[in-house]
Amino acid sequence: MARQLYTARLNQKLLLSDPAQCYHLEFQVEELERFDFTPGQFVSCVAEDKNGKMQTRAYSIASAPRANAFDLCVNRVEGGFFSNLLCDLEPGQTVQFHGPHGLFTLRQPLTDSILIATGTGIAPMRGFVQWLFPEDGEDRSQGRPVWLVYGTRYPTELYYQKYFEKIAAERSNFHYFCTLSRPKDDWQGLRGYVQEHVARIVMDRAGTVHSGPVVSTAEPAGFDIHAYICGLNEMVSANRDKLTGLGWHKKQIIFERYD
Ligand SMILES: Cc1cc2nc3c(=O)[nH]c(=O)nc-3n(C[C@H](O)[C@H](O)[C@H](O)COP(=O)(O)OP(=O)(O)OC[C@H]3O[C@@H](n4cnc5c(N)ncnc54)[C@H](O)[C@@H]3O)c2cc1C
Repeated sequence: MARQLYTARLNQKLLLSDPAQCYHLEFQVEELERFDFTPGQFVSCVAEDKNGKMQTRAYSIASAPRANAFDLCVNRVEGGFFSNLLCDLEPGQTVQFHGPHGLFTLRQPLTDSILIATGTGIAPMRGFVQWLFPEDGEDRSQGRPVWLVYGTRYPTELYYQKYFEKIAAERSNFHYFCTLSRPKDDWQGLRGYVQEHVARIVMDRAGTVHSGPVVSTAEPAGFDIHAYICGLNEMVSANRDKLTGLGWHKKQIIFERYD
């Protein structure tokens, strides 16, 4: 059966990073008064390429539900078909999509949560954070600690940094860590890969004094915490391995791979 296609009209476009050619895109769904989805889900965008072949690509929704709107965070892939189509859209233009799809959503009942992302993997995390800590509504975090660990190569790729810093300043249970894998000497923040900082959060939470390599079982099958990982496969695997090495059960680790 053919899937129901919707039309998304671009309302607003912001360049998040010129060097990384990453855009924040705000759409409105023409056919609907409400576009319902669960934060963390994705839409499948559909368009015909120059050979008349229909192409479909997934994009995580970078916002919490609000009326018939949704946001995307897309970076250009050199020579890529759909990322360039989306990054070249101008306000008023449209793209077709089906969805929402996907199971990369916050597990209920809510537990303590570690959100782990690199690059545009931050998109569903923005949706989670907007939903948990709405700026004009009731807090849904139930006081649970939420850590966001965000890694990129350069500071110019830290998308939505001001937003996450603001929420962290306002909510004592939201903790924002960003780390650079290729920092310059003057970078004052965290360095290295996300999984190293994730391990430290897990160890600290378990009250384990850490010295030397992380080897002990910090979280023995306790399902009072989940990790949500989004980005390229290599990073997702590195974090899964790190967490299972710390004694986590695989059901505690929810992930979305972009490649
Ligand atoms: C569930 C899901 C959610 C996603 N959410 C997002 C999102 O929020 N934002 C976003 O920007 N992307 C997201 N992606 C990736 C997106 O679907 C496309 O793969 C990406 O935009 C490239 O598509 P393209 O048509 O431009 O490139 P293609 O024409 O498909 O590929 C061109 C070339 O680029 C390579 N390539 C493909 N994807 C990537 C990549 N991600 N990085 C580097 N090289 C690549 C290919 O191997 C190929 O050689 C998501 C993917 C999945 C599966």
